[in-house]
Amino acid sequence: MGPHVHFDLTQQWAVTAGLDEIAECIARADVELDWTHPARGSVGNMSRHFGLTACLWAEWYLYRACRDRSCEDLGRALHCVQDAIAHGVLGLKHVRHMAGLARDPDDWDAATLRVRRAIERRSVSMLCRFRPAQ
Ligand SMILES: [Zn+2]
Repeated sequence: MGPHVHFDLTQQWAVTAGLDEIAECIARADVELDWTHPARGSVGNMSRHFGLTACLWAEWYLYRACRDRSCEDLGRALHCVQDAIAHGVLGLKHVRHMAGLARDPDDWDAATLRVRRAIERRSVSMLCRFRPAQ
């Protein structure tokens, strides 16, 4: 997924979740993960963008975000979960795309409504888990 999801939509969803004041910080940390940990950099980096390992990274970053009240870690958690859903289990959607069998999994506009809704739902629920109880 590109900056449209990792920055623009993430910022909107953070506002929706009542995190207006740190929405930009969250979105910046989300979009930056593709530069600080590019998937092609190493296996450890790649594990943040694909499949079940990306879900584990998301939980780890969310745990740290809540513990340290860190908007940066919250943004990283969102990136991992958004990629995990977009890329499919084990990143098979990328393999199919490279083989010319499927749409580009990083193209938000070409994503099915089901995938888009799932990404939004998971993102907002993570943002709400971070928000302290009122
Ligand atoms: Zn990514």
